Amino acid sequence: MTSVISALRKQIATCEATLKDLRQQLAEAEHNQREQGKIVPQKRRLATDPVNPMDHDMNFGVPDQFRDEIFSILQQEQTAPDAASTVAEDAPKWPLEKNEYKRYGRQLIMPEIGLKGQLRLKDARVLITRLNPNVTLVPHTSRLSPETAVSTFKQYDLVLDCTDTPASRYLISDTCVLLGKTLVSASALRIDGQMMVLNNPPLPAGDPNGGPCYRCVFPKPPPPESVVSCGDGGILGPVVGVMGVLQALEAIKVLTHKPTTTPADPPSLLLFSAYSNPMFRSIRLRSRKAKCAACSTHATISAEALESGSLDYVQFCGSLLPDNNPLAPEERISAKNYAQLRSGVNPFTGTVSKKESHLLVDVREKVQFELCNIDGSINVPFSTVSATRGPTSAVEEKDWTKMLRQSEKPIFVVCRLGNDSQVTVKKMKELGLDAGGKRYIGDIKGGLQAWRSTVDTEFPDY
Ligand SMILES: [Zn+2]
Repeated sequence: MTSVISALRKQIATCEATLKDLRQQLAEAEHNQREQGKIVPQKRRLATDPVNPMDHDMNFGVPDQFRDEIFSILQQEQTAPDAASTVAEDAPKWPLEKNEYKRYGRQLIMPEIGLKGQLRLKDARVLITRLNPNVTLVPHTSRLSPETAVSTFKQYDLVLDCTDTPASRYLISDTCVLLGKTLVSASALRIDGQMMVLNNPPLPAGDPNGGPCYRCVFPKPPPPESVVSCGDGGILGPVVGVMGVLQALEAIKVLTHKPTTTPADPPSLLLFSAYSNPMFRSIRLRSRKAKCAACSTHATISAEALESGSLDYVQFCGSLLPDNNPLAPEERISAKNYAQLRSGVNPFTGTVSKKESHLLVDVREKVQFELCNIDGSINVPFSTVSATRGPTSAVEEKDWTKMLRQSEKPIFVVCRLGNDSQVTVKKMKELGLDAGGKRYIGDIKGGLQAWRSTVDTEFPDY
């Protein structure tokens, strides 16, 4: 108890010292303003005079991590009002910095955030506290495989699964069962997350008192077309944070709990949904499955099978391999040739052509289209294209096919990476939008990624 009290006293003393320093710094900043005769009463504008606070000695013993943040805030305050008057002249084409599209891409493509939401976040200011310097991180930079999983996991007491493909989830769970390790498994996508503590207690396969494994909960993998990665579906950053913190909490509980042969708590699946009320739900899980392929007496998965590479997790989970029936070369155009076509010369015929000479259909989802797009393109989301079944009759004609049928101009289809665009070209032809082969429909090879790398390097990469 004495140590707790003295630790708390110490913390309070540190905070008070920091607060004192900050007050002193604020007083100094205000004093400088008065000196310039330009004091501005608004609370948030601490330094509107032209003196650069970075040039002034304002350390006053304030810890470095605070000082840098305070200076950056002061500098923003100082430059913000003037920036507005010159913005029209030098307004960049895209509202976010180039690298921000990449950094925030996964939440930018979520309808709940989008470009507007990200811009609001960008304007916000948040103070982050220092990370624990006593933690040693040992990165394993190679990809986890059945051959390496056992030897890698052996060195650890507990495993936390933060991966995002079913194949890796089954592999991680199987390895934990084989090595008698508890697994804290969490996942997150868009605004949702789920978490469970598996193989807890981690008793040998066949012992019914052991906790269920991933295969007990999900004996069969989901159909590959239903699996969406965070890169494609988006993810709200704090959702990962919530799941990560919960995982850390469970890890602490498992690691500090005395080894036991009976479950401390009945196994459960915790579901989180950021936009639901309440945000958390819990589903009770059954105990180990009598015929589980990993943790029952009927287990067929062994360390030898894993290490020999004879278990193919990717095949078990199925994968959406590239189309067996790709588009013909004449149905495809490179981004470079397409750019040429827009600027004047048709690379196919040599005749003069302009961007009005054809239709450019962008099949990314709406929120991604709104983020950035090629001038003049039309948005028909791929989800809408995929949901359109068979050749439609005139009566049930969908809006997008009706719109495209109103013109006879050639159609070029573009997407993010050049896969969905190929599927769309085929679909459009199935739906008869090519007027029996009289109208050109093709895709831009490599999609907007190729457009960015070969035509417009300023095009945002999210
Ligand atoms: Zn199992």
